[in-house]
Amino acid sequence: MIEFKNVVKTYDNGTTAVDDLSFVAPTGKITVLVGPSGCGKTTTLRMINRLHKQSSGSILLGGEDTAKLDTIAMRRTIGYVIQNAGLFPHQTILDNVCAVPYLNKNDKRASQERALDLLEIVGLDRGYASRYPWQLSGGQQQRVGVARALAADPPYMLMDEPFSAVDPIVRKQLQSEFLRIQADLAKTIVMVTHDIDEALKLGDQIVVLKEGGILAQVGTPAQLLANPADRFVADFLGQSRGYHALNFRPLRDLEVEQTPQACVGEQLSNEWVVACTTDHRPLGWARAETGIQELREDRIRVASPLELGASNYRELLDAALASPCGQAIVVDARGTYVGTLSVDVVAQHVRDANGNEYHS
Ligand code: ADP
Repeated sequence: MIEFKNVVKTYDNGTTAVDDLSFVAPTGKITVLVGPSGCGKTTTLRMINRLHKQSSGSILLGGEDTAKLDTIAMRRTIGYVIQNAGLFPHQTILDNVCAVPYLNKNDKRASQERALDLLEIVGLDRGYASRYPWQLSGGQQQRVGVARALAADPPYMLMDEPFSAVDPIVRKQLQSEFLRIQADLAKTIVMVTHDIDEALKLGDQIVVLKEGGILAQVGTPAQLLANPADRFVADFLGQSRGYHALNFRPLRDLEVEQTPQACVGEQLSNEWVVACTTDHRPLGWARAETGIQELREDRIRVASPLELGASNYRELLDAALASPCGQAIVVDARGTYVGTLSVDVVAQHVRDANGNEYHS
């Protein structure tokens, strides 16, 4: 756990970058700092590993006041990932990943073995180990940056805009893989981003700062979306707030409609049916354009089914909006067709949830 207690940072030129900041970053969770440019996010992050020293207040790492710890030893318990990865250009990928274990004078062979495993964990072939940073793409370098931060197996990680220097598609991949890694490793992470979508996707908890380094709100993404503390937070979350909120609402206790299914070769009428394989795996939607027609593969409007126990209302809305008849196709955990859900279910859920669950 990382705890900020009434932390103030005033730089020598008189700028107060962080003002009376208190929050807790829980153990094993991702806490994301967001806010407009200049609101003190990076200053806040860098005070944790004492690259900046607070003017007053205290920061506790696992209950211990960082001002009283040996700074060098403390930093070795904190992985640090920065924008553009910040790799050492004249060192191989292997040596980059091993930087902290070498500093810690860990066994060289064991460190290198671990580094090779870590490259695989972050989705890079071991063959990259002997290359130099300039021989890798931006996204690959960023993966090495994450591997390097994990190399000494620190309990804490600080990440400053870790995915912002890569294009949007690579960024989405990196975010998803990062969540997969974190599900296994459960590090205590504080991350800075200016990208609210990234914060909502990655954060277990979000800390919103406003100008002058003042705390605007702390909460889970669902709490912030449902109950922004003020207009500043609401505006910062943006106009898709309602849509984003559906992300955090799992599909539960829903009765599916028994929309008929049909296989290739069967007869279609002008009613939409779910086109399935002979072992009841949905392929998409189909109906006869005129009169009675046979279901052919090229007449299927392809659709991606939802798994009831593993999907949320945003995915339901998306699937229903993308379907030709306003219905999402639902499967069980084995991918077998179970029925359909209408877009009306989303509207009904929002009506029921507002005023009840939305305020939990
Ligand atoms: P953010 O990461 O949210 O963009 P920063 O923490 O970088 O914000 O900066 C917060 C405020 O502190 C800004 O007004 C910035 O100009 C100022 N600041 C940052 N670093 C320094 C510094 N080394 N000296 C003086 N002012 C600084």
